[in-house]
Amino acid sequence: MRFKDKVVLVTGGARGIGRAIALLFAQEGADAVIWDVNEQESGKTCADIEALGRKSLAMQVDVTNYKEVEGSVNKILDKFAKVDILVNNAGITRDGLLLRMNEADWDAVLNVNLKGPFNCTKAVSKVMIKQRSGKIVNIASIIGIIGNAGQANYAASKGGIIAFTKTAARELAARNITVNAVAPGFIQTEMTAKLSEEIRNKMQAQIPLGKLGEPIDVAQACLFLASKDADYITGQTIVVDGGMVMV
Ligand code: NDP
Repeated sequence: MRFKDKVVLVTGGARGIGRAIALLFAQEGADAVIWDVNEQESGKTCADIEALGRKSLAMQVDVTNYKEVEGSVNKILDKFAKVDILVNNAGITRDGLLLRMNEADWDAVLNVNLKGPFNCTKAVSKVMIKQRSGKIVNIASIIGIIGNAGQANYAASKGGIIAFTKTAARELAARNITVNAVAPGFIQTEMTAKLSEEIRNKMQAQIPLGKLGEPIDVAQACLFLASKDADYITGQTIVVDGGMVMV
C-alpha cells in the first residue's frame, strides 16, 4: 500500500499499458482518474479499480485539447482536491514511410503523443506547484531513441517527449516535482497486435530476454518513478525493453 491516499491521473488509461498502470497504482492503495477518448473501456477500467476498494473517476478527455484538459483538472479537484501523480500515457501510431506519410498522419501523432503531454503537464503542474509536490511520468518509446523506418512521426514525438521530460524536470525541480520517462520496447497490447507475424518475429529475435514485454512491466517502472524510492531521480528515461536498446 505504498500509494495509500494518493491520487493518480493516467491519460489513455482505458486499455493497454495505461490500464495496467492505473490498476497497479490502485493495488498499491491509490485512487485513480482515467482520462481517455474511449468511454466504454474507461468505464470498465474504473469498475475494476473500484473492485479493489479504491475510488476512481472516468473522464472523457481528448488530451490534444487544452481547454478540455484544463476544465477536467478542475473536476478532479472537485472530487479529490489534489493530484499527486500524472502519467502521460495516451499515444497513437499512424505508420508509413516518410515519402508517403501525409500531413494529417504527421499532425495526428504529434498532437496526441507530444502536444498531449505538454497540455496535461502544463495544467496539472499548476496544481502540483501549489501542493509543493508531485510526480510526473511520461511514456516515451525506444523508437524515440533509436528511430524506426516507417515511424517518422512516432519517433519524432517520442524523441520529443524525452527532451520535454528533461526540460520540465529542470523547470519544476525547485517545486519538489520530479519528471521522468519510461521508454518501453515491444509490449503486447492492441497497438502491437496490429503488426504482422513476420515483423513480430523479427522484433522478438532482437530482444536479449527473448520475449515481448507485458503492460505490467511498464507499470512497475512507473510505480517506482512515482514512489518515494525515486525522490532523488528526475529528468531520466528508464528503458523497459528486455535489453533491446542498451545505451
Ligand atoms: P493502446 O492503443 O492500447 O491504448 C492507448 C489508449 O489511449 C486508448 O485507450 C486510446 O483510445 C487512448 N487515446 C488515444 N488518443 C487519445 C487522446 N487524444 N486523448 C486521450 N486518450 C487517447 O496503446 P498502448 O497501451 O500500447 O500504448 C500506451 C503508450 O505506450 C503510448 O504512448 C505508446 O506510444 C507507448 N508505447 C507502447 C508500446 C507498445 O509496444 N505497445 C511500446 C512503446 C511505447 P482509443 O481506444 O479510442 O484508441
